[in-house]
Amino acid sequence: MQLADRLNQLPPYLFLEISRKIAEKRAQGIDVISFGIGDPDVPTPNHVLDGLKRTIDDAPNHRYPESDGLPELRQSIAKWYDKRFGVELADKEIVPLIGAKEGVGHMALCLIDPGDIALIPDPAYPVYSVGTMFAGGTSHMMPLLESNGFRPDLSLVPEDVAKKAKIMWINYPNNPTGGLATPEFFSEVVEFAKKYDIAVCHDACYSEVTFDGYVAPSFLQTAGAKEVGIEFHSLSKTYNMTGWRVGMAVGNKDLIDALIRVKSNLDSGIPQAIQYMGIEALDSTTSEWHSSNNEIYRKRRDLVVDTLLSIGLEVNRPKSGFYIWAKCPEGWTSAQLATELLDQHAVVVTPGRGYGEAGEGYIRLSLTTPDNRVKEGLKRLEGWKLPSRPSS
Ligand SMILES: *Cc1c(COP(=O)(O)O)cnc(C)c1O
Repeated sequence: MQLADRLNQLPPYLFLEISRKIAEKRAQGIDVISFGIGDPDVPTPNHVLDGLKRTIDDAPNHRYPESDGLPELRQSIAKWYDKRFGVELADKEIVPLIGAKEGVGHMALCLIDPGDIALIPDPAYPVYSVGTMFAGGTSHMMPLLESNGFRPDLSLVPEDVAKKAKIMWINYPNNPTGGLATPEFFSEVVEFAKKYDIAVCHDACYSEVTFDGYVAPSFLQTAGAKEVGIEFHSLSKTYNMTGWRVGMAVGNKDLIDALIRVKSNLDSGIPQAIQYMGIEALDSTTSEWHSSNNEIYRKRRDLVVDTLLSIGLEVNRPKSGFYIWAKCPEGWTSAQLATELLDQHAVVVTPGRGYGEAGEGYIRLSLTTPDNRVKEGLKRLEGWKLPSRPSS
């Protein structure tokens, strides 16, 4: 049996070594605290669960859904976009997804032929470049530097690369850096995309997880954006629904149509009773619910940032998302620091290198761990004197 080469091309699973160590420690009875994965620990709100409970017995919901979702879900998405961003969407500009990840992966099949180039931020959510590789394309990395607000400098993309590029991925509020978009940046992206005939895919999965009064913009609020691109959303992070798999892509109708054509050949849409949860989430979630849910992360953010600052790490206080992106001290790689934290304190963090070359020199801490575990994890770090050099 010979597996396809694309499987060999998958990046080495950088978390493998860490997962192995965690399992080893747990087997020894050591209480490991994880700031690793970003997966909300708070349950899905009741009004959203009611959408499922109310519709689960209806036989039509037991049958194949349509690939492009229930018309009612598309309407709820349109209403939410109008209310939240003041962006009007036609029915043909909307497709519900089995989670944003599904759409991100399939989007590459819509735009990338073998040999084509995709412009990808570095560090980034790994699916942008893996999807590109699965489609036979090549990723050109755009480094996200702190000095540029963790936004790519488009003037650094070489002319010949830009001419060959078919797609540009951007993601704001950004995972893992916590970087934010500006209206000027979004306008630059539209201009660049028009100049080189590139499709823009903006991943806005964290748009509602915000603090300190920050309100995240939509890429589609930018003049000309709908001519060049689409935006991905997920209900996973915003409504604590990672396990239910609901997201959406909206914007340019030709790109949405292409995505529906690919999807309808590979999947059969979101189970309908779960689509009713999506409708409830978008129609009935109050701003008070968002505020109190975000307040949970805001408190954890401040606890984690304060502790990291107190032990001498350089770190920003992000206004969005649930990740802390902290700088490693001089002389440490991200993998060395992650290993040290695990070995000395049984605390798991993710090495930034796992998100790309430009992620080297940082570690990521996720805030989706229950309060008491966050506090216990931080207690282990308080007063810690980091050795000036890694032991190995
Ligand atoms: C979590 C995450 C996703 C995936 O969202 P799902 O809807 O759960 O598939 C996509 N993009 C980014 C940047 C994420 O962090």
